[in-house]
Amino acid sequence: MPLNIAIDGPAGAGKSTLAKAAAKELGCIYVDTGALYRAVGLFALRRGADPGDAAAVLPLLPLIEISLQFAENGQRVFLNGEDVSEAIRTPEASDASSKVSSHPAVRSFLLDLQRDLAAKNNVVMDGRDIGTVILPNAQVKIFLTASPEERARRRWRELVEKDTTARFEDVLAAILERDARDSSRAAAPLKPAPDSILLDTTGLDFSQSLEGLLKIAGKAAK
Ligand code: C5P
Repeated sequence: MPLNIAIDGPAGAGKSTLAKAAAKELGCIYVDTGALYRAVGLFALRRGADPGDAAAVLPLLPLIEISLQFAENGQRVFLNGEDVSEAIRTPEASDASSKVSSHPAVRSFLLDLQRDLAAKNNVVMDGRDIGTVILPNAQVKIFLTASPEERARRRWRELVEKDTTARFEDVLAAILERDARDSSRAAAPLKPAPDSILLDTTGLDFSQSLEGLLKIAGKAAK
């Protein structure tokens, strides 16, 4: 069986940057599953559908084809053949992704794509329900977190490079709102798998966090 490393945790915990670096170190491909929900959310927005309304989103699913490509500099996401890797990163797409991800039909629509990748490749896969639902047999499960303020600070620093008017308070409020929605939804809520190992990166810099993650992965994969 290929090596499967599941990394779950809330928005802004540093999952993607850390998972990407860990994957490189361990010779795995890095799969960012949030991008799949973002692509569905973007499609709903473009169609003028309310992402939170299951009745509006579900009829769109048969019109959506998502594929991933793995390049040296990371994952590219294609929505019906269009590279939407940048378009899915706006605050609007973030909000829409979190809303569409609460619909069970959206989650099952994206399930096989994720499982197929992990069945065929050594993967570091990050998301919210990878250890609990998508890859319950992953050899390594890590729940990566940090305080909401620290996560908001990291997101805000990224955003402000593109948009100097971005406000920290707004970023924090959006993070808290997304946390609440991701944790309280009935379908695959964000919660640590019972056999996951917790890594709290509050106060840790990138290299300390990566070291912690690789230590856990190295021990658990044995
Ligand atoms: O990780 P990222 O912030 O890109 O994820 C976008 C949204 O997709 C999250 O807010 C979450 O609601 C949803 N998501 C999910 N399950 C995953 C990955 C992401 O529900 N495995």
